[in-house]
Amino acid sequence: TCGICVEKCPFDAIEIINLPTELQEDPVHRYGDNAFALYGLPVPESGGVTGILGPNGIGKTTAVHALAGEMVPNLGNYDEEATWEAVLERYRGTELQNYIERVREEQVSIARKPQYVDQIPKQFDGVTSDLLAATDERGKLDEYVERLGIAPVVDQPLDTLSGGELQRVALAATMARDRDFYFLDEITPYLDIGQRVTAARLIRELAEEEDKAVLVVEHDLAILDLLADTLHIAYGEPGAYGVVTDPKSVRNGINEYLKGYLSNENMRIRPDEIQFHQHAPRETSKSAPLVDYPDLSKSYGDGEFSLDVEGGTIYQSEVLGIVGPNGIGKSTLAQMFAGSLEPDEGELDFRLDIAYKPQYIEIDQPMRVDAFLSSITEDFGTSYWKTEVANPLQLGRIMERNLDDLSGGERQRVAIAACLSEDADLYVLDEPSAHLDVEQRVQATTAIRRYAENHDATVMVIDHDIYMIDLLADRLMVFDGEPSVHGHAGTPQEMRAGMNDFLSDLDITFRRDERTQRPRINKPGSQLDSKQKRSGEYYYSS
Ligand code: ADP
Ligand code: ADP
Repeated sequence: TCGICVEKCPFDAIEIINLPTELQEDPVHRYGDNAFALYGLPVPESGGVTGILGPNGIGKTTAVHALAGEMVPNLGNYDEEATWEAVLERYRGTELQNYIERVREEQVSIARKPQYVDQIPKQFDGVTSDLLAATDERGKLDEYVERLGIAPVVDQPLDTLSGGELQRVALAATMARDRDFYFLDEITPYLDIGQRVTAARLIRELAEEEDKAVLVVEHDLAILDLLADTLHIAYGEPGAYGVVTDPKSVRNGINEYLKGYLSNENMRIRPDEIQFHQHAPRETSKSAPLVDYPDLSKSYGDGEFSLDVEGGTIYQSEVLGIVGPNGIGKSTLAQMFAGSLEPDEGELDFRLDIAYKPQYIEIDQPMRVDAFLSSITEDFGTSYWKTEVANPLQLGRIMERNLDDLSGGERQRVAIAACLSEDADLYVLDEPSAHLDVEQRVQATTAIRRYAENHDATVMVIDHDIYMIDLLADRLMVFDGEPSVHGHAGTPQEMRAGMNDFLSDLDITFRRDERTQRPRINKPGSQLDSKQKRSGEYYYSS
């Protein structure tokens, strides 16, 4: 190893001939002897959105403390008193010089949106409007409430809000402030794709129209691409050291990240490239049907919400992607398949054993991860279970931790493992991407696909991250309608038809990046956007 990493080399299978140049210099901050060290800082720019792309535990919060003036970075000299003069000296002549001068003069104020919005009701008692009222520093709050669709919940106690509602309230509360620097730590968890795009547009307007500096951490790459002007890649060894690169254009930054190789830095951050397919997968020879189901309908109470389902077939060992807004009836359908809910019309002559991973994970018990997982499967600890479930989800290091001290991403990986470890006919995963970083999304995708193939298991994955759905799904089931009022579930379709159906509803088209073939959201009204809409190809260009 190069002598920096605590455990094994994070760049597996990669020869490290020389230390990356960043690591040959002193860090920006080191917490203590042998403690975490941060190399490099992001550059907030007024009038623009700066993104950071990289794993958790890599020093983003540390960097933001420094940029907000809440901590003077010690430049690695943790036993001496740190001063802004020294920091300024280090950054003289760089893009950060002006910014650091302003921090030193205490001229930078900050607003931040926390990563885990689920915690907000624990810290704030009261109804939504109480939380929002104090934040209206620019007279923009009403507009945010309207455009983010928060109006229906303004009088509701915060502890009754769903994750998606809390996320939108937290975004409005942060953006409504009048500050110089806004830090948004993940904007997409629990939001459906329409809400993600709206949030991205509002953030861009905040930066451009109000000349504010906005820094975002985001793992949904289609949204990050739409949102950011410049991008810093963060890499390193979580918990040991983190490197924040110089800014790149958002397009190059994401491409290099997917390739696993940073060209300016001459640094490989992953052995393999993450690949997308420009063409729809060819119609595969289908395996045996798992179930055939007829048209169904179901309504709750006096018809406050009703769902119509078009009949169809689900095949064994396929991964069926499920897309559509929140509150449209996706879990209602899963409950009908499980036999725990009777349809009003249509009859189901089967009852599937369903293993279900809910969207909001509540496994906060004072119990160790290994004890929890071994209570679910007898295979726990076998080499087979480790290869198929634990290793791809990187559970090794957290087995001995307690469920209630896990971070959001760790909890998500345990919940996916728990679901896949059950013995079931159908595995339903609701938003497995939430709080996973990009690397973990790719690993979870591989774990889920592999599991379906090796176990003849049928998996339904509900997710709003288009890249994750693209990498995961064999076919798509599209839900549309009016959330909380009426839902319609289409019959499962091939990817091309499904994407066209879904995206035409949202009025969003994607083009392909020439180099990596990854999908990128088109600007509304651009030539490509209009051309693709005319030809009805919203996702696959040929
Ligand atoms: P991120 O925001 O990217 O998840 P953080 O900046 O919060 O990362 O933390 C990076 C690393 O620094 C973590 O391993 C964390 O344990 C460590 N760390 C954070 N604060 C302190 C501190 N005050 N003393 C020692 N280590 C710390
Ligand atoms: P999704 O899984 O797509 O988010 P759900 O199937 O959970 O949607 O819910 C669809 C709608 O039905 C929502 O408006 C929800 O509030 C409502 N709903 C869900 N379960 C019940 C129930 N048991 N009684 C009344 N309304 C319900």
